[in-house]
Amino acid sequence: MEAPQHSGSSYIVIDAERCKGCHLCVSVCPKGIIAPASYTNQKGYILAEVIAAKAQECTGCTACALICPDAAISVYRHSRVLSPAAR
Ligand code: SF4
Ligand code: SF4
Repeated sequence: MEAPQHSGSSYIVIDAERCKGCHLCVSVCPKGIIAPASYTNQKGYILAEVIAAKAQECTGCTACALICPDAAISVYRHSRVLSPAAR
């Protein structure tokens, strides 16, 4: 799992080995901060990743985590895990 990608109060972590590259998270993020990556994981899927320049715009709304069919996204607010553990 990747380390938190910015120092704001809300952020997401995408588990690279769970992600299957469907990019549903890209389409639902209201802030447009998730994009297809330029690389694949070990299974050959094109990952989703947070756009570094926009990472601080994450509101912690959890839309990305809720739509992810593979529970690959964890959302953190003030260092508390909201999902997928909270689902
Ligand atoms: S919704 Fe989940 S599986 Fe699909 S690209 Fe995003 S993180 Fe990966
Ligand atoms: S928690 Fe909301 S704002 Fe943050 S990346 Fe996910 S969908 Fe976007």
